[in-house]
Amino acid sequence: MADYRQMWTDLGMDLEKHDQLCAVLPEAFGGIYLSQENRPEGMGFFDFVVSEIHGVRPAELIEHQKQGGKVFGTFCVYVPDEVIFAAGAIATGLCGGSQFWVPGGEKVLPANTCPLIKASVGARLDRTCPFFRIADMFIGETTCDGKKKAWEILNQDVPVYVMDLPQMKRAKDVAAWEDEIRLLIAKVEEFTGSKVAPEALSDAIKLINNKRAALARLYKTRQSSPVPISGKDALLVSQIAFYDDPARNATMVNKLCDELEQRIVDGKGVFPADAPRIMITGTPMAIPNWKLHHIVESSGAPVVVEESCTGVRYFEHQVDESQTTLEGQVKALAERYMQINCACFTPNPGRIEDILRLAREYRVDGVIDYNLQFCNLYTTESYLVQQALKEAGIPYLRLETDYSEQDFEQLRTRVGAFLEMLGK
Ligand code: SF4
Ligand code: SF4
Repeated sequence: MADYRQMWTDLGMDLEKHDQLCAVLPEAFGGIYLSQENRPEGMGFFDFVVSEIHGVRPAELIEHQKQGGKVFGTFCVYVPDEVIFAAGAIATGLCGGSQFWVPGGEKVLPANTCPLIKASVGARLDRTCPFFRIADMFIGETTCDGKKKAWEILNQDVPVYVMDLPQMKRAKDVAAWEDEIRLLIAKVEEFTGSKVAPEALSDAIKLINNKRAALARLYKTRQSSPVPISGKDALLVSQIAFYDDPARNATMVNKLCDELEQRIVDGKGVFPADAPRIMITGTPMAIPNWKLHHIVESSGAPVVVEESCTGVRYFEHQVDESQTTLEGQVKALAERYMQINCACFTPNPGRIEDILRLAREYRVDGVIDYNLQFCNLYTTESYLVQQALKEAGIPYLRLETDYSEQDFEQLRTRVGAFLEMLGK
């Protein structure tokens, strides 16, 4: 990585501690990613982004701030980035995916909080992630109890604005989300000093739709057999999409797709065509959480789709681009975002339908239900997921884990037994 020490110092980061993180990441990435055979050349860009993860994009965000722009940090796929970009600001994903940040979170949160929340809070309070330092304002949501309370603690250190996400999907709940989007517009306008005009919102809707379309195109290639890209690589692309510039991201993902589509024509894959095809469903995997994908794929089976927020929940469904008034656009945004099926909703049959649909579309041989420890929502919904998959005759394995490496071998044994049971 180039020398960004002055930038990190100016951000008030704990350089000594941050050096520890910088020391382990390249080795972990090399072992998990660069050791893969036959990788698409288009992954070179995404490898570069990881190698400069705390440098290039943070420097761009700081430059934007120097020009008078604002940066908003988000934690959930229900928060409409379109509103932020329409105000001339930048949205960047902030979820923490490393065990490195967990102890920092545990200083202020109960130990039995999900690792994603602990890592996100730790990354801010320990001052070891530039993205968490740069964001002028965090946007939280009322999705789960752990997050709701964590916002209050983070708000002591950085301004946090919270969107009240309904927990049901009746017409009045969609209308309530519309109201929340209107309130977000007002907040973003106040904070940036820029008006969210319909023309700018229309451009932002197209910008984010294009990013979604590129990711959808990438995922479509994974429906092929043999699969032209590993699940690990697809996961990395999806993780990077949360904080890269959306236009550049769409360009680079589309470039990768050109190559993958050619691979499909040439019958070229990264796993044998008869290897068992795995879907992972459940809680999100924030960067650099590559643990389960690595276990599954190093055991010989490709992960071909993720029913998660670092998978299809992030990009499925587009916002209607035909609306020209702010009122119509807000309605279109609310309708699109309320089609996401997170376990924080009750009832949540849409998620089960999605899992069964994806299993067909991606010709899945088995489903691994991945739950982060202490995530009550997804762990409880597992019962219904298992029931539906059993009825559909699709083999299922449920795993509960955290970000640590302690259970790595145990998970590998369970995944190995599951793949053997698939008998391919
Ligand atoms: S799992 Fe639910 S709460 Fe978490 S990012 Fe996804 S939609 Fe948001
Ligand atoms: S994984 Fe579960 S507990 Fe953790 S932030 Fe997401 S919804 Fe909340």
